Amino acid sequence: MAPIILAAPLEGWVTPLEAVPDPVFAGRMMGDGIAIDPTGDTLHAPCAGRIVGLQATRHAVTIETESGAKILIHLGIDTVALDGKGFTTLVAVGDQVAAGDPLIRFDLDLLVREARAVVTPILLTDATGFTLTAFAPPGAITVGAPLMTLHRTAPPQQKQQQQQPQEPELEFGRHDDDPTIVRRTLRIDLPHGIHARPAARIAALARETRAALSIEKDGRSASARSLTGMLGLGIALGDEIAVVARGGDADGAVDALVTLLSTGLAEAPAPVTRVAAVADSAPLPPGALRGVPAAPGLAVGPVQHHRNSDIDVPREGRGIAIERAAFGDARAALRADLIEQSATQKGAAREILVAHEGLLDDPDLHAATEAGIARGESAAYAWRSAIRAQADALRSGGNARLAERAGDLLDLERRLLAKLIGVTNERHAYPAGTILVADDLLPSDLIAIADGLAGLCIARGGPTSHVAILAASMALPTLVAVGDAALAIPDGARVVLDASNGMILPTPDTQQLAQAEVEQAVTARKRADALSQAAIACHTADGTRIEVFANLGAAAEAGPAVANGAEGCGLLRTEFLFLERDTAPTVAEQHQEYQAIADALEGRPLIVRLLDIGGDKPAPYLAMAAEENPALGLRGIRVGLAHTGLLEDQLRAILAVKPIGQCRIMLPMISRVEEVRSVRLVLDRLRDELGISAAIELGIMVETPAAAVTADTLAREADFLSIGTNDLTQYTLAMDRANPAVASALDGLHPAVLRLIEQTCRGGAMRGRWTGVCGSLASDPLAVPILLGLGVTELSAAPGVVPTIKARVREVSLDACRDHAREALACASATEVRALARRFASREIPA
Ligand code: PEP
Ligand code: MG
Repeated sequence: MAPIILAAPLEGWVTPLEAVPDPVFAGRMMGDGIAIDPTGDTLHAPCAGRIVGLQATRHAVTIETESGAKILIHLGIDTVALDGKGFTTLVAVGDQVAAGDPLIRFDLDLLVREARAVVTPILLTDATGFTLTAFAPPGAITVGAPLMTLHRTAPPQQKQQQQQPQEPELEFGRHDDDPTIVRRTLRIDLPHGIHARPAARIAALARETRAALSIEKDGRSASARSLTGMLGLGIALGDEIAVVARGGDADGAVDALVTLLSTGLAEAPAPVTRVAAVADSAPLPPGALRGVPAAPGLAVGPVQHHRNSDIDVPREGRGIAIERAAFGDARAALRADLIEQSATQKGAAREILVAHEGLLDDPDLHAATEAGIARGESAAYAWRSAIRAQADALRSGGNARLAERAGDLLDLERRLLAKLIGVTNERHAYPAGTILVADDLLPSDLIAIADGLAGLCIARGGPTSHVAILAASMALPTLVAVGDAALAIPDGARVVLDASNGMILPTPDTQQLAQAEVEQAVTARKRADALSQAAIACHTADGTRIEVFANLGAAAEAGPAVANGAEGCGLLRTEFLFLERDTAPTVAEQHQEYQAIADALEGRPLIVRLLDIGGDKPAPYLAMAAEENPALGLRGIRVGLAHTGLLEDQLRAILAVKPIGQCRIMLPMISRVEEVRSVRLVLDRLRDELGISAAIELGIMVETPAAAVTADTLAREADFLSIGTNDLTQYTLAMDRANPAVASALDGLHPAVLRLIEQTCRGGAMRGRWTGVCGSLASDPLAVPILLGLGVTELSAAPGVVPTIKARVREVSLDACRDHAREALACASATEVRALARRFASREIPA
């Protein structure tokens, strides 16, 4: 790479970094560079590149050059405290900019008055492979004048993968008596230990902090920025680890990481535990192969084998410079692919792609690849060796869960090799109804080929591998760990895959085939009946109109929800836009997403829930102090009221959606009437500002017992009420919804919750407001008659069950539901209510 001259991004006075009044910048803890004391009001790009970081508080921006160097510009010192005041961003994350493009406009007078200092450091944040020279001398400078020169350097020495903690650290010249070192031990209670997704979240947090964070286990240490380093520690449930930070805000960094590790990484329990236990004890029919259920279900169909051929790579490189540049280009191209793909995915698929993107930036993998290239190897060969060494370490670590993560590394290996060698990733297409058999399957393969598959049978793997999690999220019947015998099933053989019972019948007899086909047919008929009626507006058998909406979490879900008969969106969980990213989405980004969903709903109502983060849904860029009880702390609407910039941005984005009025606004976690009034004031002010005269409906979620019992009071201020039964159950029963120890008793059909639902409907009706349910109870066909009997008139369910819920509403009369609900309210326990509901279903609902 030819050296790049970085141009002055500001008009002002050049100052050496040592003179910046902050030890973190002055001590170069964040990187080498220079500072400018600004006299203008606009920050410009010092070079061409992509915006890869933009603080939510708009005071700092990071640009990545084409060659991968990251340049951070931090406007002023301690300006984060201004919470965005005085800054206007002119670009967004992901934007490509040319040298000199304006990035941020700022109010210099305000900064001078309110910030600790306005001097602005311009830094190279990750010096791996780059260096800076030819700094401009102290003195006046104009925008665009040469400021310093960026060069690529010789590759760094490969770091030892796992350093002994007592060895000196390279980064900050560690001394054991250094007061800036903070260390805390804790025990890991993540069911699957620290695997790829938690590691990706930890690395994201570590990248955000100014301290050097590491994790130690059994005398070994890994940088918290390195996914593979952390995975290599093999941290499992119950292990004791130490979190160590040095430099920067070491205390805060340790606090943040300990909080994340103890409360912020709650994972859904493995989807299969219960089914697996049943399967283990059930005797198998003759000839059946046992496997571990990864996603339940029954499939009958022809087998096809999935085989990926190895990509050939040359060992010899074409020269260090060429290979290094090729490696950088391939990574950039793959990163773009992963970002593009994750934008169109949701749930587990999206999380997995984000984790892969994190792995792509792993410093240990880089160092190992760079070292290989420096030895004269091709980038492809060096990358493959780096990945295989890590994958082998995971497999031989004796931890089955971590061994399952090797698949993610091999997936990334293959995808990057495809870029480097120029082969397109092989695309396989299988006829609809195929039961796919594979030795192992990579997550990206499954994302690409899942359409139309009837089932999946994997010889290796485990129930918590990413491919298993993906399959479960796609409701694709899947067995894993079946063993080599699966590979011997001939292509084209008609088999029965009974994932619910943990087996595959490679040569079913006619009776087994017939029985499986009958079971499938009954399930399919019920679903087809429900689907054929799905588009019709929904009334109970005695004619009461009930609206059935869908809960959405991403734009891609809206079209399928409408196809399933959703009459609108009753809950848009806008968190999907805010989580798993380094900065808050801009107004424009949010507007684009909301508008896409509104368009896909083709005029149907869209209830947008304002940001519900905090508690079990942390956002890395929101500086929130660690809380002892996050579920009782700053979460839901309390976050928006504490960070009014976020609230206003989100309201602006919603108000920009056309046609005006299609979007209704819903407030999460309301417990006090003042919260509704405060948001209403902001909303009215923004409507005035934007010249919107039409009223915009503002409703609340009823998720706290306080909101339920004061529903009549709240309904004076709110246009509608929607009950979030997930949180309402957690807060009523005092059982953490993310804690598996209490999960079995956490049932929304508990009579206490039902009495609160009844009280909410009554309170709403007193003021002429409708009450809906958007929590999981609305997706439970057994619960629906009780909810209707209690007075609920709108149900917002998971998109896939909308046809079933509509069918259930049509099957029951409101009178019968009311009697049924009265009986339910008088039950002593959730178990009694469920038994009652089953009796009601078998009596009232046709087979
Ligand atoms: C609820 O609490 O029931 C709800 C719908 O909100 P979430 O599950 O997103 O917290
Ligand atoms: Mg909730």
